[in-house]
Amino acid sequence: MRRTKPIPKKLLRVKRSKSGLGLFADDTIAPGMYIEYTGTLISTKKANTMHGARYLFEINKVWTINGSSRNNLARYINHSCTPNCESVLDGTHVYIKTLQELHQSEELVYDYGEEYFEEFIQPNGCNCAKCFQRK
Ligand SMILES: [Zn+2]
Repeated sequence: MRRTKPIPKKLLRVKRSKSGLGLFADDTIAPGMYIEYTGTLISTKKANTMHGARYLFEINKVWTINGSSRNNLARYINHSCTPNCESVLDGTHVYIKTLQELHQSEELVYDYGEEYFEEFIQPNGCNCAKCFQRK
């Protein structure tokens, strides 16, 4: 994470997307830039009892980030099966990093992972661009 830079907030905009709100590029964003998924560190054990809670990012079996604060812009980033960002773990910090150059009005998306997908996304059907085409 050392040679990369945070995405300036003025380059990001929360807008309506196919799956509720999403986070979009408001200008060109270089590959390798990141936004931190911020929030309160809670135990994964506690997180597993918070049924219906959204914006929980499980770091490992011990720690989970409760990212429900509105200051956590990264919480608006939706899942996609063809992501243009990836989540990177650094200790108990989580960064969502761009995998390619993003252009104005492009939605930031990353792969939420198999476990989350099977539990929360698959039952309602995935709304990402790839899955949406197939419907
Ligand atoms: Zn999908």
